[in-house]
Amino acid sequence: MMKRTRKQIHKEHTSTFGTATTGLLTAGWLLLQSLTPLPAALAQSDDKDLSYGELIEQIEQGQVREVDIYPLRRLAKVKLEGQSEKDEPRQVVLFAGDRNGELLQHLQEHNVDFDVKDAAGGSALAWVLPNLLFALVLIVGLLLLLRRSVNASGNAMNFGRSRARFQMEAKTGVMFDDVAGIDEAKEELQEVVSFLKKPEKFTAIGAKIPKGVLLIGPPGTGKTLLAKAIAGEAGAPFFSISGSEFVEMFVGVGASRVRDLFKKAKDNAPCIVFIDEIDAVGRQRGTGIGGGNDEREQTLNQLLTEMDGFEGNSGIIIIAATNRPDVLDAALLRPGRFDRQVIVDLPTYKGRLGILEVHARDKKIAPEVSLDAVARRTPGFSGAELANLLNEAAILTARRRKEAITMLEVNDAIDRLTIGLTLTPLLDSKKKRLVAYHEVGHALTASLLDHSDPLDKVTIIPRSGGVGGFASYIPKEENVDFKLDTFAELLDQITHALGGRAAEDIVFGVDEVTVGASSDIKAVTDLARKMVTRYGMSSLGQFALEIPNNEVFLGRDFIPRSEYSDDLASKIDAQVRAIAFQCHEKARRLLQENRPLMDKIVDVLLEQETIGGDQFRKIMEEFAKSPEKELAVNRTGD
Ligand code: ADP
Ligand code: MG
Ligand code: ZN
Repeated sequence: MMKRTRKQIHKEHTSTFGTATTGLLTAGWLLLQSLTPLPAALAQSDDKDLSYGELIEQIEQGQVREVDIYPLRRLAKVKLEGQSEKDEPRQVVLFAGDRNGELLQHLQEHNVDFDVKDAAGGSALAWVLPNLLFALVLIVGLLLLLRRSVNASGNAMNFGRSRARFQMEAKTGVMFDDVAGIDEAKEELQEVVSFLKKPEKFTAIGAKIPKGVLLIGPPGTGKTLLAKAIAGEAGAPFFSISGSEFVEMFVGVGASRVRDLFKKAKDNAPCIVFIDEIDAVGRQRGTGIGGGNDEREQTLNQLLTEMDGFEGNSGIIIIAATNRPDVLDAALLRPGRFDRQVIVDLPTYKGRLGILEVHARDKKIAPEVSLDAVARRTPGFSGAELANLLNEAAILTARRRKEAITMLEVNDAIDRLTIGLTLTPLLDSKKKRLVAYHEVGHALTASLLDHSDPLDKVTIIPRSGGVGGFASYIPKEENVDFKLDTFAELLDQITHALGGRAAEDIVFGVDEVTVGASSDIKAVTDLARKMVTRYGMSSLGQFALEIPNNEVFLGRDFIPRSEYSDDLASKIDAQVRAIAFQCHEKARRLLQENRPLMDKIVDVLLEQETIGGDQFRKIMEEFAKSPEKELAVNRTGD
């Protein structure tokens, strides 16, 4: 602690905090002074203490040898002339406010040794600290405010640049071989890679290298993966950034990031710029509620400008991915920007097989497992879901302490992903019997109908999400990806869906039917309605009464408009009801005619909880040959 004059104190403040802060510090100090009540212990004075007035008096008279000032404790310790070194110094309570300046002046004038002790010592710390913290928070808060406004006005460019987060990754470790099932997209992008590798080949015949390629498709179909594969294969620098990273709280930062990205890209050409989830910035401008989003619009404008700014053959290719092409600004899609649009759709049967093969590479799979069968059982799965499926199967295998994944684990994983987690089986009860009849009702109608897929299994092991049991089917090979339903097939689908309720009805009576069939009934209503209003499959005629709400993944969530009169609406309802009624009757009839067979299957199901498709068919076959069947036929013939 060195002795110093008032001037020096001021200087030190200046050098640490800067001029603006000194003002703040003073303000904080004054605030502190006026807010802090005097601690009782210090306010009390004993006979050793001097008053402020006495101190000034003593100074004037030259009686003061040395003064230590503790501004934070508002205290001065005074040693008077003639006081021995061992004596306790006299304490003086100082005034609040700026009166201390007066004291310092007096001390200087009379050449008294004084020392300002900034740090509060010992016991005083306990009450000084909270005040100090308060002042500090205040100061830091003010400083931040100050800094922000300075940045926003002058340094936005630097601010954005310093925080740009796009990465340059030459090695993603992904190759074209790792991407399967989306061959058209792959081919298109392979071409892009060859543009980068041998541009002369294309420019020689006057072909323009595409500036941008937009990958469009539902989530999990491998768009990001494909872009990474390009990075791995092209051998060119690869800048990747996600659209959401352009979106910032501060206006202008996104735009400066775009500028910066393109600057880097130009420096590193030939190269690839990948913008994932571009819909985050590329949305239609001026559609936001309350006048739109200025920041995003500026970013998008900058992106458009930059894409126009570089020449066609400069060696920068922009790849972007989105699953919401419908919300993209039209300006992004016009030729000269993203002039190539590649659809990356859900994989077909063949694609699924390819993807399964890719992900099976690094897993131990028993030779009996037929990936072909897995691909057949997973229509509608995306690449990501297939990868997840095999991973689930591997986890199940490990949990069951097996050496390699078998078909059992794969099938369990499929059920788990499509239906839900298995729960403990129900105890024997009427409820369990009802579920068994319901599910066998589905399975048996399906087996008795002309147009239905072969049964995979029927089970009454409950699953999460309120599923009491289910019957599943393996799509026929010709139906796996492209199913052109006929009128008769649709009717059979509805009949099958009503088989569960029909069985409850027959066995337990109309009073006992349950809510368990609600999803069946919803499906029936939807399908029957479509038959009437879209497929022209009723006596109302062959015209579409409703516009299909197609391409759900594209996110166009408009509500289908009805363009018909109330009169026609009630006619449609009548037709829908007729279809449902007719199919329900058929299901009832089929099951009633086969009641003994149904009872027998239910007995097996109650005992086993699950019946596989093959066993189910065997039970049916044996039953047909057995004397029970004869009896049954005779009985219904009565
Ligand atoms: P998105 O289309 O949503 O960007 P991703 O590329 O992120 O989907 O896919 C997620 C994961 O799913 C990938 O890392 C990969 O493991 C798997 N996957 C998706 N599609 C494929 C595919 N066509 N071939 C192989 N794996 C795929
Ligand atoms: Mg993605
Ligand atoms: Zn059902």
